[in-house]
Amino acid sequence: MVDLDTRLGPVVGKASADKLSKTFGMETVGDLLTHYPRRYVDLEQIDSFADLEVGQYVTFVAEVVDVKNIPFGPGGRKTRTQVRITDGRQHLNATFFNQRWIAKRTEAGSRQLFAGVVGEYRGQPQLTHPVMREISGDIASFQRGIIPLYPATSSIASWELERTIDTVLAVLDPPPDPLPSDLVAAKGWPDYATALQWIHQPQSASQWRQAQQRLRFDEAFVLQTIFARRRRAFDIETAIARPWQAGGLAERFIERLPFELTAGQREVQAEIRDDLARPHPMHRLLQGEVGSGKTVLSLIAMLQVVDAGAQAALLAPTEVLATQHFHSITEQLGDLAKGGMLGGAEGATRVRLLTGSMGAKARKETMLDIVSGEAGIVIGTHALLQEGVDFAELGLLVVDEQHRFGVEQRAALVDRSAVTPHVLVMTATPIPRTVAMTVFGDLETSTLRELPRGRQPIQTTVIALAEHPTWLDRAWTRIREEVEKGRQAYVVTTRIGDGESDAEPDPSADEPRTASLVEVFEALGAGPLSGLRLAMLHGRMATDEKDTQMTAFAAGEVDVLVATTVIEVGVNVPNATVMVVLDADRFGLSQLHQLRGRIGRGEHAGLCLLVTGAQGDTLARERLDAVASTTDGFQIAQHDIDLRREGDVLGARQSGGRSSLKLLSVVKHEKDIAEARDHADRVVAQDPELAELPALRRAVEELETTQQADYLERT
Ligand code: ADP
Ligand code: MG
Repeated sequence: MVDLDTRLGPVVGKASADKLSKTFGMETVGDLLTHYPRRYVDLEQIDSFADLEVGQYVTFVAEVVDVKNIPFGPGGRKTRTQVRITDGRQHLNATFFNQRWIAKRTEAGSRQLFAGVVGEYRGQPQLTHPVMREISGDIASFQRGIIPLYPATSSIASWELERTIDTVLAVLDPPPDPLPSDLVAAKGWPDYATALQWIHQPQSASQWRQAQQRLRFDEAFVLQTIFARRRRAFDIETAIARPWQAGGLAERFIERLPFELTAGQREVQAEIRDDLARPHPMHRLLQGEVGSGKTVLSLIAMLQVVDAGAQAALLAPTEVLATQHFHSITEQLGDLAKGGMLGGAEGATRVRLLTGSMGAKARKETMLDIVSGEAGIVIGTHALLQEGVDFAELGLLVVDEQHRFGVEQRAALVDRSAVTPHVLVMTATPIPRTVAMTVFGDLETSTLRELPRGRQPIQTTVIALAEHPTWLDRAWTRIREEVEKGRQAYVVTTRIGDGESDAEPDPSADEPRTASLVEVFEALGAGPLSGLRLAMLHGRMATDEKDTQMTAFAAGEVDVLVATTVIEVGVNVPNATVMVVLDADRFGLSQLHQLRGRIGRGEHAGLCLLVTGAQGDTLARERLDAVASTTDGFQIAQHDIDLRREGDVLGARQSGGRSSLKLLSVVKHEKDIAEARDHADRVVAQDPELAELPALRRAVEELETTQQADYLERT
């Protein structure tokens, strides 16, 4: 009996199995059968050379005339492989970049099926990276009217995969369906076994389309089933309720705030308050623009937990941020944070900072307060996660800027706690709905959409040096003007340039050199910004040095901070009004949006200047214009993922190795994802162990155990 879990060796032979394992990491029949064709060629609809139109997707059969590897680029290290093909009358080039193996595997005189989009090179039509499939004999001899084309690799050609899959499908016992049969029936979809056949061996275009649609839904469904089960598990899991205490620190803190919470903040605060009062662990994601007031809400939550007799930890991604949180939280709490000290308020707690670079003595003191429970609030970096940091009773873990932390690390702390703490994750990167549902599908989500009143608008302008080389001077003039008015400025560069960075550009690369922090700092000080008080900040500086610079800037002792993206998250200096971002096209859109959130935080309007050398009419410029045209972070995030590849959305790990999402795109298939979530909830509510749907259970377990499942937990 051959099923999806059968090892490939006995079915396709050792040689083939080894090749599939080496090339694609496939081990089982299921691995092979979920390697879907990228394209299909309908032999009834073969194009001819005469039809070639730039931009058109074409398929045709042609003979290879000759194949050449042509070196290009600096040092001739890159290769263009040019395959000249003919239909017997005309000639055409198919071109591949940096795939030298193509030349080895493509023989002159062979007949091949080509599929791809017609491009143009020096006025001549050409195919760039078409899919190829060798055909021996006459096209009329093909059994099937539709030929699947699989992504080719250097060791396995498309037709070989096709043949191997045919072999497997011929002996496969029809696999059971992971979807509930009523759903399949209601949708009018083919069942699972049929879908597998249709996607690999379609008799018509309608068959592969239906199969794709259904198998794509399967992917969303398996993923959402995992989340539905996790949410259920959280509901069953117990935690200690930390209900609101009237007259406690949290209440007194709110009363003292120098501002009113916005309606949105009050709503979210109530959600968190209620979550904490339940005897089940909270798992909530709080997202909101930079400056939307997340931190203040997390502080209220921490105080609520302290009031209820437990401790709270705030995990920050960098030392700069942890230190800044520590200072601002200590200051905001005032006498509420002076537990056991002279002048402390009644019931006051203690706030402690723990970072990796602390001296042994300070560390020991802090640890004592953590272990004894004296410290109600502990703020720290990764250092908090290390062995030996044992809380007396951790009631709440707040993770600031989730993107910098893996869940493993978060779990380390949660696992070591005697009782399961509540967890609040905060992110300033707006996460589009589908991504939230896919990546954070197991978290409840709260969103702060409005910025507190009094927040100043930020005007963003693109400075295009390609057209206006002198405008950079104006940027420096603007900084001078603001500094004269008593304001402060940021200048941001992409790299440090101290000769130690991993990201130093390859000097032989075609790309123009980007500005280095060190050079810019020196050039500005000696030239356009001479006489102003400049300071430098980057990630490789010693921590105390970073702290000194940041503190000096916050205190107004520095006019212009020249920095890398270390200032990206969380930094709050309300008096900073201008930001000049050099080589802005090198940053992600959401990253730029975050960066500019550093300005306009006080009573003065902000100005953000995005400097770029990119030519007009390029994607790079379009992206910058998009950031300049809106201040809506959600819109920018959507734009960002529209322009990025899937792998980047789900994290780097997803792009390497075999991905579990073959057909589903979190960018394009929002409807599938939302629908799958509803159905998965229903299925899991009725049958949490998935006893009725063993095939679904198998798929869920497989996804959960593969490395790929990592992306469920990371971003
Ligand atoms: P985030 O963490 O979302 O970036 P913060 O909580 O740090 O935002 O808030 C940014 C600044 O705005 C802080 O100085 C904070 O005290 C202030 N702030 C927060 N909520 C309000 C509000 N409702 N009204 C006015 N200022 C607020
Ligand atoms: Mg913050």
